[in-house]
Amino acid sequence: MMRIETKSGYKAYHCTATEIKITGGKGICDSCGKPHRLGYLIPVLNRWYCEGCFNEWDNSTRFYGSDNAVEQRVDAYYRQMIPLTG
Ligand SMILES: [Zn+2]
Repeated sequence: MMRIETKSGYKAYHCTATEIKITGGKGICDSCGKPHRLGYLIPVLNRWYCEGCFNEWDNSTRFYGSDNAVEQRVDAYYRQMIPLTG
């Protein structure tokens, strides 16, 4: 998975369906429920979104600093499970 910049300021990773399967994910978008080969892991939501759903979320969400502890904990979990690339 590869770290990307978000408009919202939250952490996110470009993450393939194959990579998310390491954690028990199925490559199904947690928002629209459709299968995708490529998606975005969003630690603060603990969700994996397809590109369309990710962009919709990133364009409409607001950053709250109070989410930081949850984001850090979930982010650390995924980073130990899935190697970073790029
Ligand atoms: Zn989706």
